[in-house]
Amino acid sequence: MKNLPIVMLKPKEEDRILKGHPWVYDNEIAEISEEYENGEMFVFKNSENMCIGVGYINEKSVITGRLLDILKTPAEVYENYHSVEALLEDKISKAILKREKIKNTDAIRYIYSEADSLAGLVVDMYGKTAVIQITTLGMDKLKDTIVKIIDEKLKPKNIYEKSISSSREKEGLEKIEKVIKGSIKPVIINENGLQFYVDPAGGSKTGFYLDQRDNREKLKDYVKGRNVLDLFCYTGGFAAHAMHYGAASVKAVDSSVEAAEMTGKNMELNNLKDYCVVRADVFDELKSMHAAAEKYDVIIIDPPPFSRGKTEKKGGLKGYFDLHLKALRLLNKDGIIFTFSCSQNISMAELIQSAKDAARKLHHKLELKAQMFQARDHPYSTQIPETFYLKGAVLKKTQENKE
Ligand code: SAH
Repeated sequence: MKNLPIVMLKPKEEDRILKGHPWVYDNEIAEISEEYENGEMFVFKNSENMCIGVGYINEKSVITGRLLDILKTPAEVYENYHSVEALLEDKISKAILKREKIKNTDAIRYIYSEADSLAGLVVDMYGKTAVIQITTLGMDKLKDTIVKIIDEKLKPKNIYEKSISSSREKEGLEKIEKVIKGSIKPVIINENGLQFYVDPAGGSKTGFYLDQRDNREKLKDYVKGRNVLDLFCYTGGFAAHAMHYGAASVKAVDSSVEAAEMTGKNMELNNLKDYCVVRADVFDELKSMHAAAEKYDVIIIDPPPFSRGKTEKKGGLKGYFDLHLKALRLLNKDGIIFTFSCSQNISMAELIQSAKDAARKLHHKLELKAQMFQARDHPYSTQIPETFYLKGAVLKKTQENKE
């Protein structure tokens, strides 16, 4: 890659980047070499004129630079890729290879942004349909090349772009939802021996919460013959798995009409019986269930993120505590909760503590049985904390003191 324009960093600013964190903040840049357009590819250099990598910049964003490759080398020899296309092809091939061992599904996240050295790009495959999400201007400019490579390597029948993240605004990008190849309609995917309808155009995210795949499978060890409550069920991923693994009954709750309807359809698709789906606000429903003295053996709690920024953290923790408190009131002795947080700024320890604090308030005790994380196709790098967001805990109620 010759003749790329140059971004020069201030002294020592490369230390964090060379450890593997690919962002360059606006205040870390000393100089940008020449006339350029936002979103273009650049070589990044430290203050001693050594290359530290290549990536794109957008001065509209506080995260001005995002590196697609990090490598400390004298400037003249930074030619390990002949072209940007070769670089993208290499990163995409490596990302695909990383997922090679995932055999329990045909719905896979093949590219997960920074975690696959492709900042700003997410690609999910639902059977033969690829769904592409782009969140940065730099990636948007590389879109045609990316689509070409994805088309060659994953051979999708349909390609759909669903770039609707609110972070696009910070990059000066409009939202885009459009068919790039073929057509778009709901598809049926397979996961852990079950089938699910996925509507990439209509659903949340790109259509399905792929990140919970391995955690749904974990239900197998806990639900046989048990009465299960699936809170925030979306399209019934956990609920269907619970029935499939032998639960005596399942009640699934979500406030979205479409999600509740789809949960019913997914149960039917898999010939599962003894379930009920309630369209309601979880907090209200928990109150009514408590009033009706309903009890469950296994409760799954998978809410949307309660806490996004630092300022929301306190409120977020309060939200988790309330939820745990209300849910735990319905848990039978020796019962199990599967509790999750997809808030990046809530730690595993904080999630577990929240559940334990709520239990203590009810004079219960919880014992940690297992910890859970985002599925293997959502890899995370310890150098990039932003790539790690989903954490969960299996907790067992071990003691109940009557008040
Ligand atoms: N467990 C699901 C994913 C849950 S996503 C799965 O495995 O697929 C979070 C869900 O919470 C969404 O479907 C959303 O509609 C629902 N939701 C958000 N706030 C809610 C509330 N207050 N009450 C009920 N459902 C809610």
